[in-house]
Amino acid sequence: SRVAGGRAGEGTTQGISAALQRLGFRLDRFKTGTPPRLHGKTIDFSRLEEQPGDEQPVPFSFLTERLEGDQLPCWITHTNEAVHELIRANLHRAPMYSGQIESRGPRYCPSIEDKVVRFADKSQHQLFLEPEGRRTFEYYVNGISTSLPRDVQDEMFRLIPGLERAQIMRYGYAVEYDYAPPDQLWPTLETKRIEGLYFAGQLNGTTGYEEAAGQGLWAGANAALKLAGRAPLLLDRDQAYLGVLMDDLVTCGVDEPYRMFTSRAEFRLLLRHDNADRRLTPIAWKVGLVDVERWRRLETKAEQIAEWRRRLESTRVEGRTLAEWLRRTEIEWADLVRMAPDLAEAPPEVAEQVRHDIKYEGYVARQRAEVERQRRLADKTIPPAFDYGGIRQLRFEAREKLERIRPLNLAQAARISGITPADIALLLAHLQAKSPR
Ligand SMILES: Cc1cc2nc3c(=O)[nH]c(=O)nc-3n(C[C@H](O)[C@H](O)[C@H](O)COP(=O)(O)OP(=O)(O)OC[C@H]3O[C@@H](n4cnc5c(N)ncnc54)[C@H](O)[C@@H]3O)c2cc1C
Repeated sequence: SRVAGGRAGEGTTQGISAALQRLGFRLDRFKTGTPPRLHGKTIDFSRLEEQPGDEQPVPFSFLTERLEGDQLPCWITHTNEAVHELIRANLHRAPMYSGQIESRGPRYCPSIEDKVVRFADKSQHQLFLEPEGRRTFEYYVNGISTSLPRDVQDEMFRLIPGLERAQIMRYGYAVEYDYAPPDQLWPTLETKRIEGLYFAGQLNGTTGYEEAAGQGLWAGANAALKLAGRAPLLLDRDQAYLGVLMDDLVTCGVDEPYRMFTSRAEFRLLLRHDNADRRLTPIAWKVGLVDVERWRRLETKAEQIAEWRRRLESTRVEGRTLAEWLRRTEIEWADLVRMAPDLAEAPPEVAEQVRHDIKYEGYVARQRAEVERQRRLADKTIPPAFDYGGIRQLRFEAREKLERIRPLNLAQAARISGITPADIALLLAHLQAKSPR
């Protein structure tokens, strides 16, 4: 059935859309869904494949030294032809297929009914069972997001190995929601129409928790800076994923729910999670977003990185400096420690940065040069009948969009939402190979 509402158990907030429209904002609609949640005590884990977590999980925050507690495993099972048959027989009852819901959904988490129709040649789809937490029996069944009615959801699990007796704690469902196309925003996320009003999160056509949180931080910081009469906080595409996200949103807009994938960034060697503190803490410190403790930690770490790097550059073993040894592909930090045992004293997070700085120096320089070159060549024309299928490495999404839009030049291709600089590099290489020199 189709009802007005928010996410499970949450009320609806219909009034705000009408209010925004009255103010002259354009709105559009997207859809998204969620899978059923199962009761762990009713799952037969002996028939599932275990997926253990990382042996050494990396904490999310640089202020967390290490993570305590055991990791909870995830589990894998698969759908099968019988499940697909059941879904096909009930497609007319799925709002996403019966025409009740027509807006676009997230490409990266299609519903199971979507997968069964679009990838009809697949005899099974993988399901990933994720525990929802340590204090609940609830399992999130990744891969089976659905808008099918409850009786079909119950029946589906009867047919899946290990889940035959599984009880659904919460049923899957789909929602449609309004968003305001983000070309109505300045790069600070302030609306162009109303000064002092900022939009952040799903309202801007993104989907996901991190995307929403990142924009909240960005919009909040910029609103505060504006009130204080200070310069805005803007990050470039080579400084932060947030910079990529904002540029994509306000420059290209969105034509489907936008997810922040690493593949959307062209400077991936620079935008690493391990160097997020070195990249961003100084900027955040300047605008007053970090406290003294975090700043001091970074200062200490930076000093240590410089100090250990100096040691690597000044210590010689068999005629080479340790830095030169480390540049060799087959040499790792552990090998250096064997050559110079006092390196074992370097804190792991410092050793990691020194290693990356030295090992990737050449690659990073090449990447910068490559991006510059791509920018200069971005006007190259593409023949209208260009065979995108002939580029074997081109991602499916990129090929689909390029074939649909058929851009006339690389600059236009680069502006299509979801086409990454990596796709452009591939395209460029093929165009150059084809054109007479
Ligand atoms: C079913 C479903 C499953 C999802 N699954 C995932 C997932 O697994 N992983 C993932 O990363 N993302 C998932 N998402 C996407 C993610 O939930 C959203 O993109 C994200 O939560 C959006 O955050 P937000 O802060 O922009 O908006 P919301 O979280 O929607 O917050 C907006 C808030 O504003 C309040 N509000 C509205 N109007 C008013 C008003 N007039 N006055 C005051 N308050 C108001 C609302 O009550 C709400 O609390 C899912 C979304 C849905 C719908």
